[in-house]
Amino acid sequence: MNTAPPNRVDDAQTGESRDEKRSLNFIEQIIEDDLKSRKWDGRVHTRFPPEPNGYLHIGHAKSICLNFGLAEKYNGTYNLRFDDTNPAKEEQEYVDSIKADVRWLGFDWEDREFFASDYFDQLYDWAVQLIEAGKAYVCDLDGEQIREYRGTLTEPGKDSPNRGRSVEENLDLFKRMRDGEFPDGSRTLRAKIDMSSSNLNLRDPVMYRILKAHHHRTGDKWCIYPMYDYAHGQSDSLERITHSICTLEFENHRPLYDWFCQSLGIHNPQQIEFSRLNLTYTVMSKRRLLELVKEGHVSGWNDPRMPTISGLRRRGYTPEAVREFCRRVGVTKFDGVTDIVQLENALREDLNERATRVMAVLRPLKVVIENYPEGQVEELEAINNPQDESAGSRKVPFTREIYIERDDYMDDAPKKFFRLSVGREVRLRYAYFITCTEVIKDEAGEVVELRCTYDPETKGGNAPDGRKVKGTIHWVSVEHAASAEVRLYDHLFAKEDPDDVEGDADWRSNLNPNSLETLTDCKLEPSLAEAELGVGYQFERTGYFCLDKDFRPGKLVFNRAVSLRDTWAKVK
Ligand code: ATP
Ligand code: MG
Repeated sequence: MNTAPPNRVDDAQTGESRDEKRSLNFIEQIIEDDLKSRKWDGRVHTRFPPEPNGYLHIGHAKSICLNFGLAEKYNGTYNLRFDDTNPAKEEQEYVDSIKADVRWLGFDWEDREFFASDYFDQLYDWAVQLIEAGKAYVCDLDGEQIREYRGTLTEPGKDSPNRGRSVEENLDLFKRMRDGEFPDGSRTLRAKIDMSSSNLNLRDPVMYRILKAHHHRTGDKWCIYPMYDYAHGQSDSLERITHSICTLEFENHRPLYDWFCQSLGIHNPQQIEFSRLNLTYTVMSKRRLLELVKEGHVSGWNDPRMPTISGLRRRGYTPEAVREFCRRVGVTKFDGVTDIVQLENALREDLNERATRVMAVLRPLKVVIENYPEGQVEELEAINNPQDESAGSRKVPFTREIYIERDDYMDDAPKKFFRLSVGREVRLRYAYFITCTEVIKDEAGEVVELRCTYDPETKGGNAPDGRKVKGTIHWVSVEHAASAEVRLYDHLFAKEDPDDVEGDADWRSNLNPNSLETLTDCKLEPSLAEAELGVGYQFERTGYFCLDKDFRPGKLVFNRAVSLRDTWAKVK
């Protein structure tokens, strides 16, 4: 699947469109050059390598769309690989959720599903090979000492006292490490590279540590585990990846990955780094997202306010909108922050094309149309989607008593308030003109009901005498309404940059206390009683909504995915 239309691509920074030839991003440029020079025999093989220690977020979606999208564009292949080298943090639940999310985005990795843990035997053999070549040694320093010996950016490191160990001794110790003879953390296997390298990653990095932990796939077979940096490049190599695309923070690790592949004499993929996606009002790291879940700031990984793919899906995002967003942000080498409005707009545009329009009253106010016959029900024709004629129309029942939005009435309204006030006339969508004749209030002065009259001549929304009304409001028949809970969301963080904190407060202090508003007494047109999960609806004038998975028979629950942005929205 190639998500880019054939002859225009939006520029990430300016939003300008340019013709395709000139708008190749820098990674596409590299790939096209490689294809021309036959560098990889004309192959393009990419992968997405998540660590199964959390749910995927919108940043991962960018990486997936990029890696898999490029392979599709250049008739290549892509793998899904779980980088499961840290048994302490990884779980099957995460593996399952990652697969579901990638599938939902619309990608099919077929049988190319791999796990770094499948390579543990090979990685071990390669470690032995490096020891035999005098390129790795067993070190007795503990974690803290290793850090101390490593030096700093300005000072060279110090050699480990064990750096000169003989090959025989190293082989013996490494085997005994694997056999479980030594306690956790007491020894490591390190690459013997250069303790004075200006790149700290090359100062004899740790390849293996002792960790007597149960692994979600290999069980208790291993008590030594490869470090990510030792496993990652060789996993790419084993899978014969051509373009190993990752985020900028791995730029400094590239020389190490190259060193391993070259020292072992194995296929050495080309690593290409791009900048991570960051969004305003959002934290993106899995560690923080896990904290939000564990500390109960959200209801779970799939809370609709979370930037996780499962949260976005539950919120009402479509895969098309997410992919389009990823395409628009493009790839660059510079770290930046993308305005979350861009994500929301991608959804609005997608749902504008596809969503069925329906009427739903979020904060109901009852209206009695006094001159409308009691007991009469008219089935009025309503258009499903003005953007899509093929969507057809449906019938909505109209009766003497209806609900309208509370906000559509105002005492002593200003002239420009084109809705209801005593003496004013509005159009009821798909129905009639009504005029407000009386307002009923309770003792506290709260408006509890309106009395109106309708003009039977205005059926369908036009007056035969040519008289105009400026406002059109939505409504739902009291007798036919389906009741629902509706959840309105705002940004999870109150500040654009959640790290912008006062004093020694942390990012949590920027959580938005009003990120969720639950309305428990909403009135929906009856067709919504049949709403389906995963389908977006436009509630006229109030936004795009979808059924939430919390719904039960007899209890509808909807999420607002995003508000409307057009002039209808301003009326609200
Ligand atoms: P996080 O930092 O959010 O915890 P991670 O990098 O630890 O994420 P991984 O599971 O290792 O998570 O990521 C899998 C792939 O997704 C990596 O190639 C990584 O570069 C990429 N990735 C992670 N976060 C982003 C992001 N914000 N934008 C683009 N790509 C990302
Ligand atoms: Mg990572």
